[in-house]
Amino acid sequence: MSLLELMLQDVTTVAILGHIRPDGDCVGSCLGMYNYLCDNYKTVKTTVYLEQPSEKFSYLKGFGQICSDSSADIQYDLCICLDSSDKDRFGEFVKYLDNAKKSVCFDHHITNLNYAKENKVVSGASSTCEVIYEEMDPEKVSKNVAECIYTGIVHDTGVFKYSNTSARTMEIAGKMMGMGIDFSSIIDDSFYRKTYVQNQILGRALLESIVFLDGRAIVAVIRQKDMDFYGVTSKDLDGVVEQLRVTEGVECALFLYETGVQDWKVSLRSNKYVDVSKVAKYFGGGGHVRAAGCQMMGSLHDVVNNLSGHIEIQMKDVETCTTE
Ligand code: 5GP
Ligand code: MN
Repeated sequence: MSLLELMLQDVTTVAILGHIRPDGDCVGSCLGMYNYLCDNYKTVKTTVYLEQPSEKFSYLKGFGQICSDSSADIQYDLCICLDSSDKDRFGEFVKYLDNAKKSVCFDHHITNLNYAKENKVVSGASSTCEVIYEEMDPEKVSKNVAECIYTGIVHDTGVFKYSNTSARTMEIAGKMMGMGIDFSSIIDDSFYRKTYVQNQILGRALLESIVFLDGRAIVAVIRQKDMDFYGVTSKDLDGVVEQLRVTEGVECALFLYETGVQDWKVSLRSNKYVDVSKVAKYFGGGGHVRAAGCQMMGSLHDVVNNLSGHIEIQMKDVETCTTE
Protein backbone atom coordinates (compact mmCIF):
# COMPACT_ATOMS: atom_id res chain seq x y z
CA MET A 1 0.00 0.00 0.00
CA SER A 2 1.36 3.45 -0.88
CA LEU A 3 1.71 6.17 1.76
CA LEU A 4 -1.10 8.08 0.02
CA GLU A 5 -3.50 5.13 0.26
CA LEU A 6 -2.54 4.61 3.88
CA MET A 7 -3.14 8.25 4.76
CA LEU A 8 -6.56 8.21 3.06
CA GLN A 9 -7.87 5.42 5.27
CA ASP A 10 -10.92 6.52 7.34
CA VAL A 11 -10.77 10.04 5.90
CA THR A 12 -13.79 11.98 4.61
CA THR A 13 -12.43 15.54 4.32
CA VAL A 14 -9.12 16.54 2.71
CA ALA A 15 -7.38 19.89 2.25
CA ILE A 16 -4.66 20.13 -0.40
CA LEU A 17 -2.12 22.93 0.04
CA GLY A 18 0.54 24.26 -2.36
CA HIS A 19 2.99 27.14 -2.05
CA ILE A 20 2.53 30.88 -2.58
CA ARG A 21 3.11 32.17 -6.13
CA PRO A 22 2.20 28.69 -7.44
CA ASP A 23 4.24 27.46 -10.42
CA GLY A 24 3.44 24.68 -12.91
CA ASP A 25 4.52 21.85 -10.64
CA CYS A 26 2.61 23.29 -7.72
CA VAL A 27 -0.64 23.76 -9.69
CA GLY A 28 -0.13 20.45 -11.52
CA SER A 29 0.46 18.44 -8.36
CA CYS A 30 -2.39 20.07 -6.40
CA LEU A 31 -4.93 19.57 -9.21
CA GLY A 32 -3.49 16.15 -10.12
CA MET A 33 -4.07 15.02 -6.55
CA TYR A 34 -7.50 16.71 -6.48
CA ASN A 35 -8.67 14.98 -9.67
CA TYR A 36 -7.27 11.62 -8.54
CA LEU A 37 -9.22 11.84 -5.27
CA CYS A 38 -12.41 13.04 -7.04
CA ASP A 39 -12.15 10.15 -9.54
CA ASN A 40 -11.33 7.36 -7.09
CA TYR A 41 -12.43 8.37 -3.57
CA LYS A 42 -16.02 9.42 -4.21
CA THR A 43 -16.93 9.72 -0.51
CA VAL A 44 -14.04 12.07 0.23
CA LYS A 45 -14.66 15.83 0.01
CA THR A 46 -11.51 17.58 -1.17
CA THR A 47 -10.65 21.29 -1.28
CA VAL A 48 -7.55 22.77 -2.94
CA TYR A 49 -6.25 25.95 -1.25
CA LEU A 50 -3.93 28.02 -3.41
CA GLU A 51 -3.12 31.64 -4.13
CA GLN A 52 -4.86 32.34 -7.47
CA PRO A 53 -2.59 30.74 -10.12
CA SER A 54 -1.86 32.16 -13.56
CA GLU A 55 -4.73 31.77 -16.07
CA LYS A 56 -2.34 29.88 -18.34
CA PHE A 57 -3.11 26.81 -16.21
CA SER A 58 -6.88 27.14 -16.62
CA TYR A 59 -7.02 24.15 -19.03
CA LEU A 60 -6.42 21.85 -16.05
CA LYS A 61 -9.59 20.25 -14.68
CA GLY A 62 -10.49 21.63 -11.25
CA PHE A 63 -8.85 25.02 -11.92
CA GLY A 64 -12.20 26.77 -11.30
CA GLN A 65 -12.67 24.95 -7.99
CA ILE A 66 -9.42 26.25 -6.44
CA CYS A 67 -10.20 28.10 -3.22
CA SER A 68 -8.08 31.23 -2.62
CA ASP A 69 -10.00 32.33 0.46
CA SER A 70 -8.83 31.25 3.90
CA SER A 71 -11.66 32.77 5.95
CA ALA A 72 -13.43 29.45 6.73
CA ASP A 73 -12.25 27.73 9.93
CA ILE A 74 -12.45 24.03 9.09
CA GLN A 75 -10.72 21.08 10.67
CA TYR A 76 -9.84 18.57 7.98
CA ASP A 77 -9.30 14.85 8.54
CA LEU A 78 -6.22 15.02 6.33
CA CYS A 79 -4.07 17.85 4.98
CA ILE A 80 -1.93 16.97 1.92
CA CYS A 81 0.99 19.39 1.49
CA LEU A 82 2.57 19.56 -1.96
CA ASP A 83 5.73 21.07 -3.50
CA SER A 84 6.70 23.21 -0.52
CA SER A 85 9.86 22.80 1.52
CA ASP A 86 8.65 24.80 4.50
CA LYS A 87 5.25 25.58 5.93
CA ASP A 88 5.72 29.37 5.81
CA ARG A 89 5.28 29.05 2.05
CA PHE A 90 1.59 28.12 2.52
CA GLY A 91 0.85 31.71 3.56
CA GLU A 92 -2.48 32.11 5.36
CA PHE A 93 -3.59 28.56 4.42
CA VAL A 94 -1.12 27.07 6.91
CA LYS A 95 -3.92 26.99 9.48
CA TYR A 96 -5.50 24.04 7.65
CA LEU A 97 -2.26 22.12 8.17
CA ASP A 98 -1.94 23.14 11.81
CA ASN A 99 -5.55 22.14 12.58
CA ALA A 100 -5.74 18.92 10.56
CA LYS A 101 -6.12 15.56 12.32
CA LYS A 102 -3.47 14.01 10.04
CA SER A 103 -1.00 15.49 7.57
CA VAL A 104 1.28 14.27 4.84
CA CYS A 105 3.79 16.09 2.65
CA PHE A 106 4.92 14.97 -0.81
CA ASP A 107 7.83 16.99 -2.15
CA HIS A 108 11.15 16.95 -4.02
CA HIS A 109 13.03 19.87 -2.40
CA ILE A 110 16.33 18.87 -0.84
CA THR A 111 15.80 21.64 1.74
CA ASN A 112 12.45 20.20 2.95
CA LEU A 113 12.03 20.65 6.72
CA ASN A 114 9.73 17.61 7.25
CA TYR A 115 7.03 19.79 8.79
CA ALA A 116 4.07 17.42 8.28
CA LYS A 117 3.31 14.36 10.42
CA GLU A 118 4.35 12.09 7.54
CA ASN A 119 6.81 13.28 4.89
CA LYS A 120 7.83 11.74 1.61
CA VAL A 121 10.61 13.86 0.13
CA VAL A 122 12.33 12.47 -2.96
CA SER A 123 15.06 15.01 -3.73
CA GLY A 124 16.15 13.11 -6.84
CA ALA A 125 12.69 13.40 -8.43
CA SER A 126 12.15 15.95 -11.19
CA SER A 127 8.98 17.32 -9.69
CA THR A 128 6.35 16.86 -7.03
CA CYS A 129 4.15 15.55 -9.85
CA GLU A 130 6.62 12.70 -10.33
CA VAL A 131 6.55 11.96 -6.57
CA ILE A 132 2.75 11.84 -6.40
CA TYR A 133 2.43 9.78 -9.57
CA GLU A 134 4.43 7.06 -7.82
CA GLU A 135 1.83 7.13 -5.01
CA MET A 136 -1.07 6.55 -7.41
CA ASP A 137 -2.42 3.35 -8.88
CA PRO A 138 -1.49 3.72 -12.59
CA GLU A 139 -4.72 1.95 -13.56
CA LYS A 140 -6.72 4.67 -11.83
CA VAL A 141 -4.99 7.67 -13.44
CA SER A 142 -7.44 9.47 -15.75
CA LYS A 143 -6.65 11.75 -18.68
CA ASN A 144 -7.43 14.76 -16.45
CA VAL A 145 -4.86 13.61 -13.90
CA ALA A 146 -2.38 12.89 -16.72
CA GLU A 147 -2.66 16.49 -17.98
CA CYS A 148 -1.82 17.78 -14.51
CA ILE A 149 1.13 15.41 -13.98
CA TYR A 150 2.55 16.16 -17.44
CA THR A 151 2.24 19.93 -16.84
CA GLY A 152 4.17 19.73 -13.57
CA ILE A 153 6.93 17.63 -15.10
CA VAL A 154 7.26 19.92 -18.13
CA HIS A 155 7.54 23.04 -15.95
CA ASP A 156 9.99 21.71 -13.36
CA THR A 157 12.28 20.15 -15.96
CA GLY A 158 12.23 23.17 -18.31
CA VAL A 159 10.67 20.86 -20.92
CA PHE A 160 12.82 17.82 -20.09
CA LYS A 161 16.21 19.54 -20.17
CA TYR A 162 17.29 20.26 -16.57
CA SER A 163 19.60 17.83 -14.80
CA ASN A 164 16.70 16.65 -12.60
CA THR A 165 15.21 14.85 -15.66
CA SER A 166 15.73 11.08 -15.33
CA ALA A 167 14.84 8.08 -17.44
CA ARG A 168 11.96 7.50 -15.01
CA THR A 169 10.75 11.10 -15.58
CA MET A 170 10.60 10.43 -19.31
CA GLU A 171 8.87 7.09 -18.73
CA ILE A 172 6.12 8.76 -16.69
CA ALA A 173 5.79 11.60 -19.24
CA GLY A 174 5.51 8.94 -21.96
CA LYS A 175 2.74 7.17 -20.07
CA MET A 176 0.87 10.48 -19.75
CA MET A 177 1.26 11.07 -23.50
CA GLY A 178 -0.14 7.60 -24.05
CA MET A 179 -3.38 8.72 -22.39
CA GLY A 180 -4.10 11.02 -25.33
CA ILE A 181 -3.27 14.37 -23.77
CA ASP A 182 -2.52 17.31 -26.07
CA PHE A 183 1.14 17.53 -25.05
CA SER A 184 2.17 20.02 -27.77
CA SER A 185 -0.42 22.55 -26.64
CA ILE A 186 0.44 22.01 -22.97
CA ILE A 187 4.10 22.82 -23.69
CA ASP A 188 3.42 25.77 -26.01
CA ASP A 189 0.52 27.37 -24.15
CA SER A 190 1.61 26.93 -20.55
CA PHE A 191 5.41 27.06 -20.88
CA TYR A 192 6.60 28.97 -23.95
CA ARG A 193 3.73 31.35 -24.77
CA LYS A 194 4.42 34.91 -23.61
CA THR A 195 2.16 37.92 -23.73
CA TYR A 196 3.53 41.07 -25.31
CA VAL A 197 4.19 42.68 -21.92
CA GLN A 198 5.87 39.51 -20.62
CA ASN A 199 8.31 39.75 -23.53
CA GLN A 200 8.82 43.44 -22.84
CA ILE A 201 9.67 42.96 -19.17
CA LEU A 202 11.99 40.04 -20.08
CA GLY A 203 13.74 42.33 -22.57
CA ARG A 204 14.03 45.08 -19.99
CA ALA A 205 15.54 42.69 -17.40
CA LEU A 206 18.10 41.36 -19.91
CA LEU A 207 18.96 44.82 -21.18
CA GLU A 208 19.83 46.04 -17.69
CA SER A 209 21.48 42.85 -16.44
CA ILE A 210 25.01 43.06 -15.06
CA VAL A 211 27.71 40.40 -15.07
CA PHE A 212 30.07 40.12 -12.09
CA LEU A 213 32.62 37.73 -10.56
CA ASP A 214 34.60 37.88 -13.82
CA GLY A 215 31.55 37.05 -15.93
CA ARG A 216 30.73 33.88 -13.98
CA ALA A 217 27.66 35.44 -12.38
CA ILE A 218 24.86 37.63 -13.70
CA VAL A 219 22.15 39.62 -11.98
CA ALA A 220 18.99 41.34 -13.22
CA VAL A 221 16.55 43.39 -11.18
CA ILE A 222 12.99 44.50 -11.79
CA ARG A 223 11.60 47.23 -9.54
CA GLN A 224 7.97 47.72 -8.62
CA LYS A 225 7.83 50.93 -10.70
CA ASP A 226 8.95 48.96 -13.80
CA MET A 227 6.24 46.36 -13.15
CA ASP A 228 3.67 49.15 -12.82
CA PHE A 229 4.92 50.80 -16.02
CA TYR A 230 4.51 47.61 -18.08
CA GLY A 231 1.39 46.56 -16.18
CA VAL A 232 2.82 43.20 -15.09
CA THR A 233 2.72 41.20 -11.87
CA SER A 234 5.09 38.57 -10.46
CA LYS A 235 3.20 35.96 -12.51
CA ASP A 236 4.63 37.58 -15.65
CA LEU A 237 8.26 37.13 -14.66
CA ASP A 238 8.57 33.38 -15.33
CA GLY A 239 11.54 32.56 -17.52
CA VAL A 240 13.67 35.64 -16.81
CA VAL A 241 16.15 33.82 -14.58
CA GLU A 242 16.27 30.90 -17.01
CA GLN A 243 17.35 33.22 -19.84
CA LEU A 244 20.05 34.70 -17.58
CA ARG A 245 21.29 31.19 -16.74
CA VAL A 246 22.08 30.33 -20.35
CA THR A 247 24.36 33.37 -20.81
CA GLU A 248 27.71 32.07 -22.07
CA GLY A 249 30.36 31.82 -19.36
CA VAL A 250 27.84 32.21 -16.53
CA GLU A 251 27.77 29.67 -13.70
CA CYS A 252 25.28 31.43 -11.47
CA ALA A 253 22.27 33.62 -12.36
CA LEU A 254 20.36 35.86 -9.96
CA PHE A 255 17.04 37.52 -10.60
CA LEU A 256 15.46 39.90 -8.09
CA TYR A 257 12.15 41.66 -8.13
CA GLU A 258 10.83 44.14 -5.63
CA THR A 259 7.92 42.94 -3.47
CA GLY A 260 7.84 45.86 -1.02
CA VAL A 261 10.02 48.61 0.41
CA GLN A 262 13.53 47.10 0.67
CA ASP A 263 11.94 43.67 0.18
CA TRP A 264 13.11 41.40 -2.65
CA LYS A 265 12.12 38.05 -4.09
CA VAL A 266 15.30 36.33 -5.20
CA SER A 267 15.58 33.53 -7.78
CA LEU A 268 18.87 31.66 -8.11
CA ARG A 269 20.06 29.27 -10.80
CA SER A 270 23.39 27.52 -11.42
CA ASN A 271 24.84 25.40 -14.20
CA LYS A 272 27.50 23.01 -12.94
CA TYR A 273 28.93 23.42 -9.47
CA VAL A 274 27.40 26.16 -7.29
CA ASP A 275 24.81 24.68 -4.92
CA VAL A 276 22.23 27.48 -4.90
CA SER A 277 19.98 25.61 -2.43
CA LYS A 278 22.69 26.25 0.21
CA VAL A 279 22.79 29.96 -0.61
CA ALA A 280 18.98 30.27 -0.52
CA LYS A 281 18.75 28.25 2.69
CA TYR A 282 21.29 30.51 4.39
CA PHE A 283 18.98 33.46 3.69
CA GLY A 284 15.87 31.66 4.94
CA GLY A 285 14.67 30.20 1.61
CA GLY A 286 15.19 26.87 -0.06
CA GLY A 287 14.93 24.87 -3.26
CA HIS A 288 17.15 22.58 -5.28
CA VAL A 289 20.88 22.40 -6.05
CA ARG A 290 20.42 24.09 -9.46
CA ALA A 291 17.30 26.21 -8.76
CA ALA A 292 16.41 27.91 -5.51
CA GLY A 293 14.92 31.08 -4.07
CA CYS A 294 14.47 33.23 -1.01
CA GLN A 295 12.99 36.50 0.20
CA MET A 296 15.46 39.15 1.37
CA MET A 297 15.21 42.53 3.10
CA GLY A 298 17.60 45.47 2.69
CA SER A 299 18.96 47.85 0.10
CA LEU A 300 19.48 46.35 -3.36
CA HIS A 301 23.21 46.92 -3.01
CA ASP A 302 23.42 45.02 0.30
CA VAL A 303 21.20 42.16 -0.88
CA VAL A 304 23.24 41.56 -4.05
CA ASN A 305 26.51 41.91 -2.11
CA ASN A 306 25.41 39.35 0.48
CA LEU A 307 24.33 36.86 -2.17
CA SER A 308 27.48 37.45 -4.19
CA GLY A 309 29.66 36.76 -1.14
CA HIS A 310 28.13 33.32 -0.65
CA ILE A 311 28.37 32.45 -4.34
CA GLU A 312 31.99 33.58 -4.48
CA ILE A 313 32.93 31.36 -1.51
CA GLN A 314 31.57 28.32 -3.35
CA MET A 315 33.33 29.34 -6.57
CA LYS A 316 36.64 29.77 -4.69
CA ASP A 317 36.24 26.34 -3.05
CA VAL A 318 35.88 24.76 -6.49
CA GLU A 319 38.88 26.68 -7.85
CA THR A 320 41.02 25.48 -4.92
CA CYS A 321 39.95 21.88 -5.49
CA THR A 322 40.64 22.01 -9.23
CA THR A 323 44.06 23.70 -8.93
CA GLU A 324 45.36 21.43 -6.13
P1 5GP B 1 11.88 30.19 -8.35
O1 5GP B 1 13.21 30.85 -8.47
O2 5GP B 1 11.42 29.63 -9.66
O3 5GP B 1 10.87 31.03 -7.62
O4 5GP B 1 12.11 28.93 -7.41
C1 5GP B 1 13.08 27.97 -7.63
C2 5GP B 1 12.93 26.87 -6.61
O5 5GP B 1 13.22 27.36 -5.30
C3 5GP B 1 11.53 26.28 -6.54
O6 5GP B 1 11.63 24.90 -6.37
C4 5GP B 1 10.91 26.94 -5.33
O7 5GP B 1 9.99 26.11 -4.72
C5 5GP B 1 12.10 27.23 -4.43
N1 5GP B 1 11.92 28.51 -3.76
C6 5GP B 1 11.79 29.72 -4.35
N2 5GP B 1 11.63 30.69 -3.44
C7 5GP B 1 11.65 30.10 -2.23
C8 5GP B 1 11.52 30.59 -0.88
O8 5GP B 1 11.36 31.78 -0.61
N3 5GP B 1 11.59 29.63 0.11
C9 5GP B 1 11.77 28.31 -0.16
N4 5GP B 1 11.80 27.45 0.86
N5 5GP B 1 11.88 27.83 -1.41
C10 5GP B 1 11.84 28.70 -2.43
MN1 MN C 1 8.42 21.52 -7.82
